[in-house]
Amino acid sequence: MTGMKVCQMNFKNSFVESLPGLSLNQEVSRQAQQTPGVAYSFVTPEKVSHPSLISWSESAAQLLDLDVVKLDPVEFAQVFSGNHVCAGMKPYAARYGGHQFGHWAGQLGDGRAITLAEVVNSVGQSWEIQLKGAGRTPYSRGADGRAVLRSSLREYVCSEAMYHLGVPTTRALSCVSTGDSVVRDLFYDGNPAPEPGAITTRLAPSFIRFGHFQICAFHSELELMTQLVHYVIDQHFPQFKTLQGEYKYLQWYSHVVETTASLIVDWLRVGFVHGVMNTDNLSIHGLTIDYGPYGWLDVYDPDWTPNTTDAQHRRYRFAAQPAIALWNLAQLGEALGPLLGGFQAVEDILTDYQQSFRDQLLSMMGKKLGFQAKMDQRGIELIEGLDRVLRMTEIDTTIFYRQLAELHGLYSEQGEGAGKKDPKTFLEPLRAAFYAEAPSEPALKALVQWLQDYLSWSQTDGTSVEEKVQMMNQTNPFFIPRNYILQQCIDGVAKGDTAVLNKVMMAIKTPYEDSALTREFFKKRPEWARHKAGCSALSCSS
Ligand code: AMP
Ligand code: MG
Repeated sequence: MTGMKVCQMNFKNSFVESLPGLSLNQEVSRQAQQTPGVAYSFVTPEKVSHPSLISWSESAAQLLDLDVVKLDPVEFAQVFSGNHVCAGMKPYAARYGGHQFGHWAGQLGDGRAITLAEVVNSVGQSWEIQLKGAGRTPYSRGADGRAVLRSSLREYVCSEAMYHLGVPTTRALSCVSTGDSVVRDLFYDGNPAPEPGAITTRLAPSFIRFGHFQICAFHSELELMTQLVHYVIDQHFPQFKTLQGEYKYLQWYSHVVETTASLIVDWLRVGFVHGVMNTDNLSIHGLTIDYGPYGWLDVYDPDWTPNTTDAQHRRYRFAAQPAIALWNLAQLGEALGPLLGGFQAVEDILTDYQQSFRDQLLSMMGKKLGFQAKMDQRGIELIEGLDRVLRMTEIDTTIFYRQLAELHGLYSEQGEGAGKKDPKTFLEPLRAAFYAEAPSEPALKALVQWLQDYLSWSQTDGTSVEEKVQMMNQTNPFFIPRNYILQQCIDGVAKGDTAVLNKVMMAIKTPYEDSALTREFFKKRPEWARHKAGCSALSCSS
């Protein structure tokens, strides 16, 4: 049954109606240009040849009160490819700047993202609808404004997977193929080639980034920055709306600091590496935003980054993410300095961040280890010890934590006689996580010793085996969309076969459940995927 029309949604355009922008002649507006003094430029999506729906997310559609069963995929693809702009939409590209890899990069802006409108749903939530890959804007800086199928699918699947994993994220409504090809130099080795193009439609309260404020500060546009801050608070942080003066801004900034800190704790919990934590890729809402060359720790290695463009310095490696978030928050604080009453106030807030981050991190690690009491000194030593032990041989992070939960049953069965049984028994459930056939003796010995210490410590929180296992399995995912799995989705879709994609889109919905759906993917990264492009590491090319 069809009958629901996407153009009948309840559109509003609060960003463009509250803030100054550039309205340009369409021909001129696609030319790369600096747009000082404005928050955005009006620009319509460039048309594509043959828009066709690849996949839509039923649960993301519900955020817009859309029921996919009642939608016409053809009409849907027309709107969410940008070919048809509904009445009531006022499409625009936002202006922002940013620090890329630690260096100020000047004006960046939505070079290929175009916001169509906001939609207010039946429960009063407001969702900004944005196309990624919708063609050139004044912020395209000479690039084509398009996105390739592989990066679009990666963003689409991972956004929805993160949501179900309980990690704050922008959402993805759909992925539509354009029927046009896009030329990309995948390996940055001078061999550009045509690839299929696609457009992802993303949803978020807003796509406002740290860089929105930074660009105003850089150009001394204090009035625009103040307007933007007021807009953001009024629209998205009403809890601070009635506060006055500096206090209002400080409270809001502290809130951004806190939500960013808890986002990073969540990334560390599930083993996610964003890969490009530039200040233009940090959301003011503390959401995961701009999925590019991200990845998941297959082998436990805190120094790993999936981004080959960052392979040399590894600025955005897994374990550096908390420090980089802090650095990015400091940049935001510096930009907002005139409103916050100077940098001392920012420093104080950031000092608190470090303590709060550490507390949240320890509490999260406690949950991963099934420890329900407040983290104690012995626990802290065990967390540090685990990091050392896991680095000694190649161990799959996700499988390790899930299998660790199994040990509690084994340990408790031994009851009083726990010391009598050969402690090597504890290695058995973990073998599935080992990449090497025969890990070295010192590595195994260290692991066994750690397991014994861990199991004895974990008894001291006074909870039952069942309670521990339940907590661990609610904290440690059973399914994550590993890069090689995504590559299989991409390879399938490129050949017109959505079977793997559809399976993965089902599996992402219950990432903590061991079920027939998810078990199929509960495997170490296969050897063939170790060095294959896209399957472990990948470049920024998108
Ligand atoms: P990203 O690394 O994807 O976060 O992008 C960094 C900046 O480059 C943003 O301003 C993007 O809008 C812009 N950008 C990336 N790819 C393209 C493209 N193909 N066309 C135009 N702008 C792009
Ligand atoms: Mg970006």
